[in-house]
Amino acid sequence: MAKQVFVSHTESDLDYIENVLSSIQNLPFDLIISISEPEAGRIPATVTEQISNSDVFIPFLTHDSKNNQWVNQEIGYATSQRTTIIPLFENDSMLNGLISNYKGIKLDRHNINQTTFQVITMLRENFEPLSLGPLMPNWYIRLQCDYGTCHWDNTFPINISQEELWEIYEENNIISWNCENCGTEYQFNPVTFEFEGATEPT
Ligand SMILES: [Zn+2]
Repeated sequence: MAKQVFVSHTESDLDYIENVLSSIQNLPFDLIISISEPEAGRIPATVTEQISNSDVFIPFLTHDSKNNQWVNQEIGYATSQRTTIIPLFENDSMLNGLISNYKGIKLDRHNINQTTFQVITMLRENFEPLSLGPLMPNWYIRLQCDYGTCHWDNTFPINISQEELWEIYEENNIISWNCENCGTEYQFNPVTFEFEGATEPT
């Protein structure tokens, strides 16, 4: 079964979350970014089920969400489970109460790539090797080729460390792979795995 990550947040932070986490969807795990529809003052059973089925729980703690009762209830529920918790927080004072002892990541609105890189680094520490079958690499990007009628489901292995990926980024380089079927080259940001462009086969 694919690894699952649950992101707890308020609706007003959705754009910010998209900026930080959208490229993570190129990695092979399921990302749940949902909003609780409160039922009689409690988070619904569908949400508690999603949280207990998740391998990692990420509370997104900002000025808007820190006093949000649904985010706080989701945190309360997650801490009662065996889920790994990685808080993303706007300032140190938000890392309090139930989650004061967790190692988190400080959000930096001026350096989104750095924040995304830190999230991926912690997910990699938790998830690698992904163990989805003997022939699968330990860590990889998944991408369906959209060149012509190819539609090949590619698995692009990442065989280098987070430190090396950061060095490539510092040198203003990208990382790239070729479609295993048609040869189209796909380029990505080395620290966020954001898709940067493609070069069609000649
Ligand atoms: Zn292709």
